[in-house]
Parts: sequence; structure tokens; C-alpha cells
Amino acid sequence: MAKKNQCSFCGAHKDDVDILVTGASGQICEMCIVRSKVLLERNGILPSDGDSIMDLDETESEEEINLLQPTEMKSHLDEYVIGQDEAKKRLCVAVYNHYKRLLTKGKDTYDVEIDKSNMLFVGRTGTGKTLMAKTIAKVLQVPFTIVDATVFTQAGYVGEDVESILSRLLQSCNYEVNKAEKGIVFIDEVDKIARKGNNPSITRDVSGEGVQQSLLKIIEGSEVNVPPEGGRKHPDQKYIKVNTHDILFICGGAFDGIEEIIRSRMKKQSIGFGSHSNKQIEGEEVLQYVSPQDVKRFGLIPELVGRLPVVTYLKPLNKEALKSILTEPKNSVIKQYQALFAMDDKELTFTEEALDFIVDKADENKLGARGLRGICEDIMIDLMYDAPKMKKKKILIDKEYAMSKIDH
Ligand code: ADP
Repeated sequence: MAKKNQCSFCGAHKDDVDILVTGASGQICEMCIVRSKVLLERNGILPSDGDSIMDLDETESEEEINLLQPTEMKSHLDEYVIGQDEAKKRLCVAVYNHYKRLLTKGKDTYDVEIDKSNMLFVGRTGTGKTLMAKTIAKVLQVPFTIVDATVFTQAGYVGEDVESILSRLLQSCNYEVNKAEKGIVFIDEVDKIARKGNNPSITRDVSGEGVQQSLLKIIEGSEVNVPPEGGRKHPDQKYIKVNTHDILFICGGAFDGIEEIIRSRMKKQSIGFGSHSNKQIEGEEVLQYVSPQDVKRFGLIPELVGRLPVVTYLKPLNKEALKSILTEPKNSVIKQYQALFAMDDKELTFTEEALDFIVDKADENKLGARGLRGICEDIMIDLMYDAPKMKKKKILIDKEYAMSKIDH
């Protein structure tokens, strides 16, 4: 509830406004009156006088965020990302809470400071970590950028400064700082900057840990001076000030070998409790029990782990999932080829056996869904070269044809 000396709509204090009109159960300031007037004019309820004092788009830029409910967001994700239901659910809830927190900011309605829900995705390469982050940003219509943690070096060393993350985010939204400040950043390969060895005093890996420290500053929320073009800072450069407090950070990594850490923790925990059967602990499925504690043991510094409160996992993709990825998503690889051929007035189809062959090859390569595109490209290249001048309208890719382009 807004207090008596505050606007019930925007939370502005009476000392900061000229007029605060008191009603039966609340107050409204002059700015909110004007905003309401503009809204009424836009909806044709009031005649427009043509020179409204303010542009609603400028004052209410938050409204540009397309905040949907978690279940609605998940339906959108389902169109592009196959499987990974647990990670999707967690992402949708984290994102919903994050932007809900932003949209009610300053209204002081609940008297509770809600923490940011930055996330960590743990899962093998090519399982959809980047795709999920990218898709959710598209659904929300917020600026988005992907960076690779391995390109950064500790401040003062040769390499890229972590501030360049924000330069890229600014570039993605035409340097509109207030938009960038509500964007999403995906930091890939954070596992590669883990310090080596669990005991920091014995095997201290200064570069990895140093980068983690620099990232921490940005992730936990601070005012950062950003060089507009990225790269390294320079004494005479002009900086753009960006506040990272409301930027959502999603980190991702394969964390090779973390299964062993999870298993050993669970074995210790299960002594006396018997909470997990050996069957659950063995095998790849163990990744579903990943916890912040395991990530810390892997080598992320406790402060950084503390700033990534939502830790979730992405399942390794089995052949069935790979086949669905190949054909089902809205912009699946196969649909893209079909669209390209349709532009040349050709109807392209693949036999089931050809699709299974592609999936088997991707599975062998252990690149997750990332491998699918490359394999298809090898199969399709000659046809894409020749098809525009071909007379026949129907083109069928069968297993023999696919094999002849791969296994030669
Ligand atoms: P990661 O970040 O986990 O290494 P990406 O998200 O970059 O993997 O995935 C690489 C490519 O594989 C994507 O462009 C996408 O086409 C495909 N892909 C991976 N996982 C999925 C999935 N679960 N559903 C649909 N496509 C996927």
C-alpha cells in the first residue's frame, strides 16, 4: 500500500511533485494524471488536444517489455526449443519474477526488496542453453547479447575487459541506455574460467579467478563506465554510464566432470538418509541434482555462485530429441532448407531413413544439436548449387544420397 504522502500509482513522494490529489483510498500526482489523460486520448475516450505534454512511450518505456505469464512464455519457448522442460520452467519463472520486479519498481507496494534471479545453465554443448536465452529475450522484446567468458581477462592484463559485455548490449539496442539496462546477457563457457582445483590456497588459478571477480562486479549490479566501441579502456575515451542492477544475467557452461562432484556429494548425503538410490546416482541423469554447492566445488568463486541463485541443468540430447530438433521447431534446419528450395519453386523432402542417418551422425560427433546443421550442409551443398537450374520440381533426399555425401 502506498503511504499517505505518496502517489498510489507511481510511488512518487509528495515533496517531489507539485500536486498530490487525495481520493477516498489513495492519492494521484500530476504526472500520473497527465499519463492517464494521454491514455484516454489514445484510446479515443477524450478528444486529443494535439499537444500532449509528454510522450507516453518515453515515460513508460517499461511497458514495451512484453511480460507474459510463465506458462505463456513456456509455450513460446516450446515452439523453438525441444524438451528441456525443467530448464524452461525455471527460466520462465526467473524471468517473470525479474521483470515483474522491474515493472513494479518504485511503487513500493509490498515493502520487500526482491532479489534478482540471475541464472546458471549447466549442460553439454549443443543442448539449447544459448537458444533458450536468445528465445526468451525475443519473446520479451528486450535487448540481448551473447558473450564468451573465455575472451575476457582480468583488469590490467592483455585481452578484452568485461565492460565490453555492456558495449555489445548497448549496440544491440542502438545505444538506448535505459533499454540496455533492462536487457538480458548470456555469458557462455563460464566453466572455462573456473579456478583449477578446489582448494584455492594450493592451486590458485589467478587468471580464471580474476575474470570471475571482474564479472562479479557487473553481475551483482553497479554503475559501470562502458567504452562505446568495446575493447579496452583508454584514458581519453568517452564513457557511457550503464547501471547493471536490472540486467538479467544468464550464465552457461558444460561443466565437464561435474557429474562426479554431484555423485560424491550425494553419496555422502545419502549415508544415513538413503534419499537417493544408487541407480539415480549412476549414469548421466545425475546432472538433474546439480546444486550451487557443486558449481562452487567445480571452481566458481562463492561470491559469483551466490549471484546466480537459480541453477538448472539441460539434459544431454538423445537420438529422439535430435530428430525432433531436426524437423519440429518453427525454424528447424529441415524447414529452413525446404523454405530455401521453395523459393526456387522446388519441393524438398527427406525420407525417414535419411533423417535417422543424419541423427546417427550427429550423435556420433557428440556435438549435440550443434552438429546437425553441419551434417545437413554437407549433404545439401551440391543440390543447393545445382537445383536452381534443374527442371524437376520434386527433390527427395534418401539415405543412400545422404550417405554418399558424408561417407566418401
Ligand atoms: P549450447 O548453448 O547449449 O551449446 P545452442 O543453444 O547454441 O547450444 O544450440 C546450438 C544449436 O542447436 C542451436 O542453434 C539450435 O538450432 C540447436 N539446438 C540445441 N538444442 C536445441 C533444443 N533443445 N531444441 C531445439 N534446437 C536446439
